[in-house]
Amino acid sequence: MAEIRLEGVAHSYDGGKTYALNPITMTWKDGKAYALLGPSGCGKTTLLNIISGLLKPSEGKVFIDGKDVTDVITDDRNIAQVFQFPVLYDTMSVRKNLEFPLKNRKVPREKIAQRVKEIAELLGIENDLDSKPSKLRSDLQQIVSLGRGLVREDVSAILFDEPLTVIDQNFKWTLRNRLKRLHLATGVTVVYVTHDQTEALTFADEVLVMDKGNLVQVGTSESLFLEPQHEFVGYFIGSPGMNFLDVEANSSVLTHNGKTIGKAAKAGLNGSHRFGVRPEFLVPSNRSGLEFKIERIEDRGVFKLVHLSKDDFKFIAKTDESYDAKVGGKATFSFDPTRAFVYDAQQRAVSTVSPSSAGGN
Ligand code: ATP
Repeated sequence: MAEIRLEGVAHSYDGGKTYALNPITMTWKDGKAYALLGPSGCGKTTLLNIISGLLKPSEGKVFIDGKDVTDVITDDRNIAQVFQFPVLYDTMSVRKNLEFPLKNRKVPREKIAQRVKEIAELLGIENDLDSKPSKLRSDLQQIVSLGRGLVREDVSAILFDEPLTVIDQNFKWTLRNRLKRLHLATGVTVVYVTHDQTEALTFADEVLVMDKGNLVQVGTSESLFLEPQHEFVGYFIGSPGMNFLDVEANSSVLTHNGKTIGKAAKAGLNGSHRFGVRPEFLVPSNRSGLEFKIERIEDRGVFKLVHLSKDDFKFIAKTDESYDAKVGGKATFSFDPTRAFVYDAQQRAVSTVSPSSAGGN
């Protein structure tokens, strides 16, 4: 088990012209499960490969349990890595593939047999142990590859790079739960890369949200949903994502097209900002609130998504199933001020909205 620390780690693939990863300093605590979440190309694999030692960062240092491993090769970092696609020896049976990492480390024969049995049962491949990997379906091959990553008990950390991409949707859920159970039982530090927010939020103790090579927020699934500290977290997490409106702040009074929509809780805010509120915290109101045109109402069975517009800005409110209104007409929605945020030009949250002030039109 291990604590991983990154100090000013950054990476450029083109000699410093552009950075796939901007400087990151953070500690990954011993025994916790982390997810690296972000869209394609945001730098997740780059970061994972730097931790495993497959890639040497252009800048910064990597520490495992306090020891500087920046120049230490992967094999000597005691880390298991599972990739998106199967990495297996086809000349060997599934059993031998699973035994291989243990034999390499001279684990006693009885222990190897016991561990291979445990992992095969956990992954549901106990009947495939004597097959050659190429005879298995591609998703089963990936599960065997997963098994190879999980079979060693002495690893400091396990790194997963989108390991369930090729797995059938239904089995994905089961496998994820089994991986979670294994993590809880072994207490090994886990870093799990995904671009699927459900996968990240259900698997990890903490989620690291990345965008364009930057780590924009680290938090629990609850804090990322309730307190998005960056606009990207607002719209990437949640379904649908956060609504945004351009606002002007004048001594913290927020206006849109000259109309007051509330006052920022933080004093002395001035200049152009963005107001953000999630669809869940926009509530139909008969009294004060923001006035919208109703564009469309989408019935999702147990809730409705009400598509709204205000000038050029599109909003969505998530209402209960009973909501009804005329499409094309006007409607007023109030918002929960403590769940509404004001973002600066760098897309960083600088304030919530003062509870006494929310409303306006
Ligand atoms: P995905 O989810 O698609 O795997 P990612 O978030 O893991 O994406 P990376 O693979 O880390 O992102 O890539 C980050 C950036 O670095 C991208 O712009 C990518 O094109 C670039 N990149 C990745 N590997 C290399 C490489 N070997 N040489 C040059 N550029 C690279």
